[in-house]
Amino acid sequence: MSTTTAPTVLTGTPVVPGVVLGPVVRPAGAVRLPDAVAAETLPEAARAEERARFTAAAETVAGRLAARAAAATGMTAEVLSATAGLARDRGLLGSVEQRIDAGTPAAVATVQAAQQFVDVFTSLGGVMAERVTDVRDVRDRVVAELTGQGEPGVPAPGTPSVLLADDLAPADTAGLDPARIVGLATRLGGTTSHTAIIARQLNLPLVVGVEGLDAVPEGATVLLDAEEGALTVDPDPESATAQVDAARRTAQALAGYRGPATTRDGVAVPVLANVQDGPGTRTAMVAHAEGVGLFRTELAFLGRAAEPTVEEQATGYADVFEAAAGRRVVLRTLDAGSDKPLEFATPPEEANPALGVRGLRIARRDPGLLDRQLDAVAEAARRTSTSPWVMAPMVATVAEAADFAARVRERGLVPGVMVEVPSVALLADRFLEVVDFLSIGTNDLSQYALAADRLSADLADLTDPWQPALLALVAATADAGRRAGKPVGVCGEAAADPLLACVLVGLGVTSLSCAAPAVAGVGARLSAVDSTACQEAARAALAAEDPRAARAAARAVLTAG
Ligand code: PEP
Ligand code: MG
Repeated sequence: MSTTTAPTVLTGTPVVPGVVLGPVVRPAGAVRLPDAVAAETLPEAARAEERARFTAAAETVAGRLAARAAAATGMTAEVLSATAGLARDRGLLGSVEQRIDAGTPAAVATVQAAQQFVDVFTSLGGVMAERVTDVRDVRDRVVAELTGQGEPGVPAPGTPSVLLADDLAPADTAGLDPARIVGLATRLGGTTSHTAIIARQLNLPLVVGVEGLDAVPEGATVLLDAEEGALTVDPDPESATAQVDAARRTAQALAGYRGPATTRDGVAVPVLANVQDGPGTRTAMVAHAEGVGLFRTELAFLGRAAEPTVEEQATGYADVFEAAAGRRVVLRTLDAGSDKPLEFATPPEEANPALGVRGLRIARRDPGLLDRQLDAVAEAARRTSTSPWVMAPMVATVAEAADFAARVRERGLVPGVMVEVPSVALLADRFLEVVDFLSIGTNDLSQYALAADRLSADLADLTDPWQPALLALVAATADAGRRAGKPVGVCGEAAADPLLACVLVGLGVTSLSCAAPAVAGVGARLSAVDSTACQEAARAALAAEDPRAARAAARAVLTAG
């Protein structure tokens, strides 16, 4: 590739906002892997020792990751423990050991066994395909340990730097020191990948899907604008510093956010939090969330073989209701399937799980599962004297919504449905005749509207929440809400983007729900703009040709006044 034609401004999909300037660093060089076909067969006498060497290497890797997990919190800790767990996974270890017993050297056996797992996970798709990055990461760490190469991963530079990578293993992202790595740009990685989720938790500016990163030399100064999704190589120092300073001032303003959220002209738009348990809800309340806009009940039961009892569910739900301390809580019934399979609820073999028996559809096979969950929610509501809103995921027809609403109302609860399938947005008026509220899940709505796997790094541009087609579906849903006089919220990742949040409000959305660390950014941004500017920005974004143009058009409107 000729260096003279290398672009100076590279673009991608912004995920975590922020503007930073610094020299480029890259992850430590790739681990040198042996050929997957062994050049030699170990003599019988050497195999036990080789096996012990492997066991020790795998345990060293697992121990290091587990120690980092113990020092971390939240999703970061979860990801590190999951990767440590993989390094101790009996299936993976057993597969390597079998090969060593048959005479394959440990490093080669590790590469072969990992490849077998990669093939299986890839063919399963969804969240299982995401595990491929973890398997390769564990493989590299174990091979590095066996062959005396240094621990792979990210550098810890002396100067605050911008890390450019093809993709990062979740464990690498989780181990980043935000004082040394101030921003992150990757060629791969979707907006809902583990790397994205952790970067959001670390508040580390992130742009994914950036083409041309390979051409940027290590040490070059770059301006990473994770508001716009742009990486400028060798920027004009003066204007780059001015941009960074402006972004810093905005960030400082967030520290003062106390809620409740209103636009500058006083239109109230509650900013709620997405949670999965009681402790997370307490954290969200400390971050001034005005309640819970999405309680993902299935996340507590991932990895469970048997359905939790009504009592166990009631205790968990009551913990969240109590933590919300009288504020609104929107609980979502089990969204099992596709990227979140639950062993006790999801059919084991589906050719296309994202279009299969997931969300509310699990109740077709086992209506008792839904009824028992609703009984548990009603019991938790009774114990805590609260009146939760309850919504179903992955609803496609008005009849499904009506059936769900009847079951919810029978128990004295407030029914709603998620708007994740375009059919709901198209017939939103009719859905609102049978339910009391709608909540738009932009993560799935974009996947189904643009026909692009939300976990695919290659298609991150299509599932970008600024896609005008997605915004049009949001607008149609919000218009129906206005006509019916019923609330329409957004609880997908789109609501975590402060600029997009203003556009969503301009489209007529009545509340927003996002990860707790994003609440202040969204609330503070709303307080700086008038509702009329939000409407103008919404019109401009809707009329734009693509996500990039939509973002630029909205920014132009919202930063003008
Ligand atoms: C969504 O689809 O936008 C959503 C909020 O649900 P989840 O991300 O849990 O599928
Ligand atoms: Mg969803």
